[in-house]
Amino acid sequence: MSGDSDLHEFQAEVRHWLTSHHTSAPRDYGAICPPDLIDQGVEWQRKIRDAGFAGIHWPTEWGGRGLSVEHNGIWLLECARAGVPPVLNMVGLVLTGGAVLRYGTPEQQAQHLRATLDADHVWCQLFSEPGAGSDLGSLATRAELDGDRFIVNGQKVWCSGGRYSNWGILMARTRPIGGDDGAKKHDGISFFLCPMDLPGIEIRPLKQMTGEAEFDEVFFTDVELPAEHLLGPLHGGWGVGMAVLTSERGHIGTAVISLERRLDQMMRLSAGTDLTPTERQQLMQLVATGNAYKAMAQRQGPVASTAASLMKLGITQMTFDAAMLRGDLGGAMGQLDGAGASGMLAAPGGRIAGGTSQVQRNIIGERLLGLPREPRPT
Ligand SMILES: Cc1cc2nc3c(=O)[nH]c(=O)nc-3n(C[C@H](O)[C@H](O)[C@H](O)COP(=O)(O)OP(=O)(O)OC[C@H]3O[C@@H](n4cnc5c(N)ncnc54)[C@H](O)[C@@H]3O)c2cc1C
Repeated sequence: MSGDSDLHEFQAEVRHWLTSHHTSAPRDYGAICPPDLIDQGVEWQRKIRDAGFAGIHWPTEWGGRGLSVEHNGIWLLECARAGVPPVLNMVGLVLTGGAVLRYGTPEQQAQHLRATLDADHVWCQLFSEPGAGSDLGSLATRAELDGDRFIVNGQKVWCSGGRYSNWGILMARTRPIGGDDGAKKHDGISFFLCPMDLPGIEIRPLKQMTGEAEFDEVFFTDVELPAEHLLGPLHGGWGVGMAVLTSERGHIGTAVISLERRLDQMMRLSAGTDLTPTERQQLMQLVATGNAYKAMAQRQGPVASTAASLMKLGITQMTFDAAMLRGDLGGAMGQLDGAGASGMLAAPGGRIAGGTSQVQRNIIGERLLGLPREPRPT
């Protein structure tokens, strides 16, 4: 546990550095760097590393700083205040880093950890499939062990940043469901660290309704994946994947800061526009909702999983409603082009990424309210 004075000193160091460097950061793009900002993102990650703020709570032997998670929390908080991304992308620096630290062999740790901090290894997440999103356990991409390699066949989808990543974290089925040994669907999945340049991997950009193409479909055809890239136990990848997804909790302060920023943006919607009483009412309703979430975030302390579901559900809905209101205020022309129009087109994605709104409601119903579990068809 770190002393307060130590944390204050660290906070002063971070603030000092960000004051003189925030102008060289890319815009705060959130968890994943969009393809058009990747060069800037890599450059920013290397600046962060040079300044000693990459892998703050990772062991020093892997290039980290060996400090506590509280120190890392300060970094996240100050980056949110400065409006800069705290890492190149969450998939590499948070999910993969956490997984390799926890489950990696010494060889895997030596191969990936420092290279990830250095942005030499840039990661994407190869989990979702056309038939497996909310129900990830139904994934059907196969990885069959054949001597010292796995032969991988299947299709992944919604892979953010797939085309600029040189490594991916991949979940694939290594034992068929209900095979001879009667494996349940979650039991036969394994977790891999997959080079993206293996022969047989084909990456196709997916165009979104915003006109951008931030995602890719990734096809695997007889890809020979060396067995040394299995992370954690064979057939035990579900446990690795779930531990990875829940290992890094959001830092409470960052939720409050990003909410404050959104509330400011919302208040600015009224500037220079004559709002009708109905529009004013809608705007104030959103601002009041945002303030309620802010109060909840401040009261909660470190975000536990069910509270995280409440926040995710509420904030993504509020952001969606704010984007629609902004589009409405832009009038007919504003809905065809410009920031208001692209905001409307981008807003639905937030309610889907990282667990859809319906899935969050299920979690809240079952775990927070104690309602009966939804029927699980076999
Ligand atoms: C911005 C963004 C970035 C993403 N990045 C990645 C990435 O990098 N890598 C990756 O692997 N994936 C990524 N995804 C995919 C994301 O994880 C999935 O879209 C998400 O899990 C939902 O899965 P799905 O799209 O297959 O929808 P489905 O699961 O097919 O759901 C379809 C509809 O049915 C509803 N539904 C499903 N199950 C239930 C239920 N039990 N009860 C009630 N309603 C239900 C859903 O809420 C939804 O409305 C990303 C998605 C977005 C939007």
